[in-house]
Amino acid sequence: MLRYYLLCFFLLIPGLGCAQRDLDNYDDAKSTRQSVAIEQIAAEKGKKKYEFVEIGGEIYPVPQPWRGRKIDDDPPELSELKQIPITFTYNQTKLYLEKNARDAFVRMAEQALEDDVHLLAHSGYRSVRYQRVIFNKLMKQGRTWEDLVRYVAPPGYSEHMLGRAVDLYPSNWKFAETNEFKWLQENGSRFGFIETYPEKNDAGFPWESWHWNYIGDSQDVPENDITSKQE
Ligand SMILES: [Zn+2]
Repeated sequence: MLRYYLLCFFLLIPGLGCAQRDLDNYDDAKSTRQSVAIEQIAAEKGKKKYEFVEIGGEIYPVPQPWRGRKIDDDPPELSELKQIPITFTYNQTKLYLEKNARDAFVRMAEQALEDDVHLLAHSGYRSVRYQRVIFNKLMKQGRTWEDLVRYVAPPGYSEHMLGRAVDLYPSNWKFAETNEFKWLQENGSRFGFIETYPEKNDAGFPWESWHWNYIGDSQDVPENDITSKQE
């Protein structure tokens, strides 16, 4: 099935078609171009150069720096999610994290409060399906795929799907200038939270000062750790 999608994606290039009857009627030049394209897919696929996601029935290529960073871990069961107390969420929104991450976040937010720093979660667990809905909605509003993936993780690539990542309020560039950010930089790791997309990271992700991911008390550097990866 995936192979068919890959084939269809390339055949959508202007001048080529996707229907079987069109394939049968190609002239030599087109056939050559087609087989070259297929060979490239096959060759590059082995190197994991091409990755695709499906949104609203359309197939989109996953660009760098996301490529090769699809999250394979199983998302949590709904029973493994736990609500963050609304005193620690922006606008008292109901947000959820995987329970260990949630408990660690609450411990951290309580400690921060003692230091007069009020951490407010702005986003927590988001399913892959929901991430797809976000993309679909924004693209219907006229945003392009290429533009969105510069700032938003493609469905299946977001740490939010595992319920371990939390976005702090305000989840934009202003967060880097807050006391909350300064406090997190000094104390986040004591509670198992690290900044996934730090300033000037090696992988080339835009800086997301508001996005913190729970890695527990593991001293091991995660396999897909962005800061340690040389691209
Ligand atoms: Zn985030």
